[in-house]
Amino acid sequence: MTNELISGWGRTQWVRSQLERASTLDEVRNVVQNAEKKLIPRGLGRSYGDAAQLSGGIAITIDEPVTDPIIADGKTTLSAGYSLDNLLRRIVPKGYFVPVTPGTRYVTLGGALASDIHGKNHHIEGTFSRHIESFAIVTPTGTQLVTENSEPDLFNATSGGMGLTGVVTDMTMKLIPIESAYIKMETARLRDLDETLSTMAGSDHKFRYSVAWIDLMARGSAMGRSVLTRGDHASLSELPPQMASDPLKYEAKALVDAPPFIPNGLLNNITVRAFNELWFRKAPTFRADEITSIASFFHPLDMVGKWNRIYGKKGFLQYQFVLPDGQEEVLRGIIERLSGLQVASFLAVLKRFGPENDGFLSFPKPGWTLALDIPITNAELGNLLDELDRIVLGAGGRIYLAKDSRMSKEVFEEMYPKLDKFKEVKARVDPNNVITSDIATRLSIC
Ligand SMILES: Cc1cc2nc3c(=O)[nH]c(=O)nc-3n(C[C@H](O)[C@H](O)[C@H](O)COP(=O)(O)OP(=O)(O)OC[C@H]3O[C@@H](n4cnc5c(N)ncnc54)[C@H](O)[C@@H]3O)c2cc1C
Repeated sequence: MTNELISGWGRTQWVRSQLERASTLDEVRNVVQNAEKKLIPRGLGRSYGDAAQLSGGIAITIDEPVTDPIIADGKTTLSAGYSLDNLLRRIVPKGYFVPVTPGTRYVTLGGALASDIHGKNHHIEGTFSRHIESFAIVTPTGTQLVTENSEPDLFNATSGGMGLTGVVTDMTMKLIPIESAYIKMETARLRDLDETLSTMAGSDHKFRYSVAWIDLMARGSAMGRSVLTRGDHASLSELPPQMASDPLKYEAKALVDAPPFIPNGLLNNITVRAFNELWFRKAPTFRADEITSIASFFHPLDMVGKWNRIYGKKGFLQYQFVLPDGQEEVLRGIIERLSGLQVASFLAVLKRFGPENDGFLSFPKPGWTLALDIPITNAELGNLLDELDRIVLGAGGRIYLAKDSRMSKEVFEEMYPKLDKFKEVKARVDPNNVITSDIATRLSIC
């Protein structure tokens, strides 16, 4: 046990917390069922805001195992403490890939289920929980093995439930078979928002993975210009000879760490506009059949360790929302507003979402999701985002809890209509509200 200052990835709200580590089921049970303080599970702290922390309480993390996973019939049962980084190093050389990966491999399986994460393939394969056959969970009232059939309510409250139903200790996951550790990728530079939206809506279904980087600093006729990258796992026959000789060789390196002290304001309108211009021009107008590694296709940000420091002491936030299909004009209005105000975001990505699942607090619904990193500047940013929240809500959209650090309780309650069902399950498995977090308090989730 240690006592530390912790925060989310955005480094905005630091709190003192007792950190507990557990490597066995008994150790988890001991912390959860004999806790003298309230507690929250914590993985690798990659949620941006206050989901994995509890001011003055306990944050419990499951140790990462050092053993190789056993794969049978394309499935594997794993500790929730496994990071995707560790897992990919062990399964890719055996010809398997995870069904859903976020934009970083430094997340745990427990964190992935609790946020019910989505990848670049939501339009085809849905969220993480859809590939989980069962999981074991320790709640303050007991330990259970949960499947969607045996305990549908607990399954759906835990998938996307931000750790508030209990500590997931392990899970059985279906894997994707792959022939190589490479992706066959297509890149297209799209000149404005119309072209971006029509290209993605018209042909994303032909690609397993798709994501557009949007230049939010571009204005006028270039507003919404983007670089769209799409692809699928390369088959053996698609590899050039030097890669085909060792097709499942997996390499994923963090090349450098960002320096610890970076002045506030390094990322401002001028630096970000210059970066975006360069990034856009560097992309090919169109290139098909390029073979690239898993790490550079899915996790380019992981090449720089601790990159969240580049936002300086004040930190940053990520604003991610989804808008249903048919609300493209609202999306255009939001992008117009952000680019008009020159909100300094160099990381803005647009993806398509497929059908919604049954997770009570799961984020995705069919339509468009835009995620943008924004440095914390001044009170005006808060006012702008409050205004955008209302617009998103009015259009039937919602904000992603794993990224949120600022939404109001009123907005949250309207955005998540299955909250009452979540609360019913929560009251059953944790009647004394032993498990809670800063986000849960802020949004009165429990
Ligand atoms: C660079 C970057 C890119 C990202 N890209 C995406 C993306 O493309 N798609 C996407 O969906 N998300 C994305 N995310 C968000 C990230 O996938 C989620 O926040 C994920 O939950 C982080 O996992 P973690 O292990 O760090 O969990 P933490 O941040 O530590 O915790 C997240 C939540 O999980 C709960 N939790 C953790 N472990 C357990 C457990 N064992 N049992 C029960 N609950 C638990 C915590 O209580 C908390 O509520 C990205 C984040 C970063 C930093």
